[in-house]
Amino acid sequence: MLDYHLHLWPHGSRTTTVTVDDVASWCEKASSRSVPEIAITEHLFRFKQAKGLLDSVCKSDPSPRLQSNMARYFENHATADLDGYVTTLHQARAAGLAVRVGLEVDYYRGHMTEVANILDGYPFDVLLGSIHWLGAWRFDDIDDPDSIAEWNAREVDTVWNDYTQAVIELAESGVCDVLSHPDLAKVMGNLPTSCEDSWQRIAEALRASGMAAEVSSAGWRKPVGEPYPATGLIRLLCDRGIPVTTASDAHRIDDIAYRFEDLALFAESAGCEAICAFDHRSRLLVPLRGSAHRGVGAQGISQAAGFIESDHRWTSK
Ligand SMILES: [Zn+2]
Ligand SMILES: [Zn+2]
Repeated sequence: MLDYHLHLWPHGSRTTTVTVDDVASWCEKASSRSVPEIAITEHLFRFKQAKGLLDSVCKSDPSPRLQSNMARYFENHATADLDGYVTTLHQARAAGLAVRVGLEVDYYRGHMTEVANILDGYPFDVLLGSIHWLGAWRFDDIDDPDSIAEWNAREVDTVWNDYTQAVIELAESGVCDVLSHPDLAKVMGNLPTSCEDSWQRIAEALRASGMAAEVSSAGWRKPVGEPYPATGLIRLLCDRGIPVTTASDAHRIDDIAYRFEDLALFAESAGCEAICAFDHRSRLLVPLRGSAHRGVGAQGISQAAGFIESDHRWTSK
């Protein structure tokens, strides 16, 4: 399998940019776990180029408490240089490392044109789209007691409805290629009265937009204790022919390919036989297991024979 959602940094501040040696050690770890290609997908909010955008997002939430919490968070995080990050990843590719140049982009209601403008011109291979917060509420920040306490102040059904609506709007924006952790609102184990209703709306939004969906082992490391998406949702996605990526969402090197054998079995049991790779925003389908077992080596999946499908929906930048 491929690991298409990786962070080189833990959460918290980092002012130095990544190095090719950093990337090489991540590729080496992936290869040792039978993962022939990875995508590095750092958060957009880690970069100072997004600071103006983040300030606007904070101000749009009606709660002064959530506004100031989020402002502190962004102040600590938006410190790295996006140009340096992208340049280093391309240098790593030029050095023969099997890495794709990616980014994890949040959905910012009313600000996606601004997001697209920030990203315009950067030569990314893949853009993940995520819903991590609603307004200025970081509903999945399990390390922040104030964020988690906010769950007690809200109706679970309302949270899920807001989350699902944000997914729909993200898909409609057309900015990203893959929906990360598609049912992240379950992170604390809080489920809506009808999961089915939310799943149907998410699946339809992905089908209509052409976005792929991520199958992620990260949920096994969270209070919910199961992968993203839930069994019912991944079945729905596979039934509708929505392509998927596989991911660990590791924020440290030891979590690369976290529980990937379990994840492969989970995906197979839902009827998933192929996964996506990306190259310059073009989607390529490869066998779920074949890519890992074939061992395509340092040049990555792009030189492996046997692509099942090539969908040049996206044009290279
Ligand atoms: Zn995420
Ligand atoms: Zn992530």
